[in-house]
Amino acid sequence: MEIRLAQHSGFCFGVKRAIQIALDAADKDKPIYTLGPLIHNPQSVQNLEQHGILMVDKADDLHNSTVIIRSHGITLQDREMLERNGNKLIDATCPFVGKAQDHVRSLCQEGYPVIIMGDKSHPEVIAMLSYCKGEILVLNGVDELPEKIWNKLGLLSQTTKNMADLQKLVHALVPKVKELRLFNTICTATSLRQEASVELAARSDQMIVIGGKNSSNTRMLAALCSEITPTIHIETAEELEAGMLSDRVRIGLTAGASTPDYLIVEVFNKINELTGNRTTVTSVEDIPVNKEESC
Ligand code: SF4
Repeated sequence: MEIRLAQHSGFCFGVKRAIQIALDAADKDKPIYTLGPLIHNPQSVQNLEQHGILMVDKADDLHNSTVIIRSHGITLQDREMLERNGNKLIDATCPFVGKAQDHVRSLCQEGYPVIIMGDKSHPEVIAMLSYCKGEILVLNGVDELPEKIWNKLGLLSQTTKNMADLQKLVHALVPKVKELRLFNTICTATSLRQEASVELAARSDQMIVIGGKNSSNTRMLAALCSEITPTIHIETAEELEAGMLSDRVRIGLTAGASTPDYLIVEVFNKINELTGNRTTVTSVEDIPVNKEESC
């Protein structure tokens, strides 16, 4: 049996940055708070609690506290409420998410109706919506594009969406509009993880995608891989059982941008244990990586 890890997987720049900002803040002042999860990985959120970084659900639960703004941002209204209630805000919004919020705000200020390709229930999209006082539409992809649309509009995407879906949407919009201002806000970390996972899936008998069930980018990896090869999405090694791996020879591993390395290591070791292989690793660097073949 062969187990390979996708060339790009696990923590992205924005997640590492948010965790470091939160840990540094907690070193000086405990407890500190995040409004909603700092990142979309339940196991990481539990670990952060042990460092005195606690999650609350509502902005009005926080008064005169230190509050970390999570990687995927918060709404303008929540930000204003936190400030009114005397909280000290430390902004760990990923710069790529912040850029998308800026684009929404400036498009609205310039009078462009806006389409966001994204999931309207995702916190990142909810936060983006709060920056627009004008006309705005959220849709998951080209299938949800209404027959009649504005003559001119701005288009951008939730950072963790898929490039091919954005391209399809642009293609469908061009014949319908006179002016289209596109901001490609899909982040590079997302694209790299998707491309590496798809490439590995094509060479694997089974893919195992590791990451939060609440993580949009992890769910996207699972969806893309499952179009290519049998795929399971798990959060932790405990979910793996022997029957899930029967008859598999080449297993591909990938992990979302909010999945810590130790969870990848635990899954790798569990697969080996379940298949009677004595190999174990202690670091993600020790797992064989699926490298692009050079010609
Ligand atoms: S996935 Fe991209 S946008 Fe989201 S936190 Fe990571 S780097 Fe930032």
